[in-house]
Amino acid sequence: MTSRVLCQFIPPYLIERLQPHLVATDRALRARREAGPHPVPQAAAGAPAWAVHTCHNTADLPGDLVRSAGQPASGDDAVDEAASGITATLDLYREVYDRSSFDGKGAPVSLSVHYEQGYDNAYWDGTQLVFGDGDGTVFGRFTKPVDVLGHELTHAVTERTAALTYSGQSGALNESISDVFGSCVKQRLLGQSADQADWLIGVGLFLPGVQGRALRDMAHPGTAYDDPRLGKDPQAPDMGGYVDTDDDNGGVHTNSGIPNRAFYLAATAIGGSSWAGAGAIWYAALTGRDVSADTDFAGFAAATVAAAGDHADAVRTAWSTVGVEPS
Ligand SMILES: [Zn+2]
Repeated sequence: MTSRVLCQFIPPYLIERLQPHLVATDRALRARREAGPHPVPQAAAGAPAWAVHTCHNTADLPGDLVRSAGQPASGDDAVDEAASGITATLDLYREVYDRSSFDGKGAPVSLSVHYEQGYDNAYWDGTQLVFGDGDGTVFGRFTKPVDVLGHELTHAVTERTAALTYSGQSGALNESISDVFGSCVKQRLLGQSADQADWLIGVGLFLPGVQGRALRDMAHPGTAYDDPRLGKDPQAPDMGGYVDTDDDNGGVHTNSGIPNRAFYLAATAIGGSSWAGAGAIWYAALTGRDVSADTDFAGFAAATVAAAGDHADAVRTAWSTVGVEPS
């Protein structure tokens, strides 16, 4: 069963610092999302694979249609970044994992940009992807880094496959899987091997003056930023840093650092491209029989080891390095 959660890219602990006025708005959004159901449009014959809308800096979704699959650039940076990002993300799923759109049945993807004014987030609401322009001081456009879009669309894939419950360890896995495939989208677009990749999530979101490289660092969780306005990156690099909390759905954006680093370690140990190597193993685990709504770190680790074939030792060692014993 699907867990109806609003999957926002920027965690609540940062929104509370930067845009406290949004906390109530986001709570209302989440309540609407949890109330569901939200039918997603089925693939219609001849329907474009994706469509980008503009909200004209209002909260009206989806807004006015600007550009669909097959159409030329619009000249609006946010629209065109969303268009290339969704193309690269759908290509990864189709060409590498033989998956047609997020539902596996070719569902068209609806995207909206210029949502609200100065909005510091991007999210999947169960029916579509939504991107703010950022506050213009700390955060810029959320369409800029392709891994943000890949991250958000992957929430829709997870929702339709393992449906990992968005709290505690299964929630941290849900978050991590979005970073994993968001990063695979970016690395594939850049033609980078696992060794060449920067393993950062959200490069380009921070505007000049912010003390940080990106929002998260899969290779070195907890080191991505340290800024007076943002605080310090709180991600855990291994089970020694695991955070027990009621905030952020049980620390989903904090503890996701642990499986993120396991993926980085597995991908670099296996070598070659992350999307074809470790990515294919993680995708098999996500969509296989061993992973379901309440799977924890150890259970997911076991599923990846089982799916790893000749690379089982490398994958087991990666998990063990972050303190997770597959079981
Ligand atoms: Zn997320």
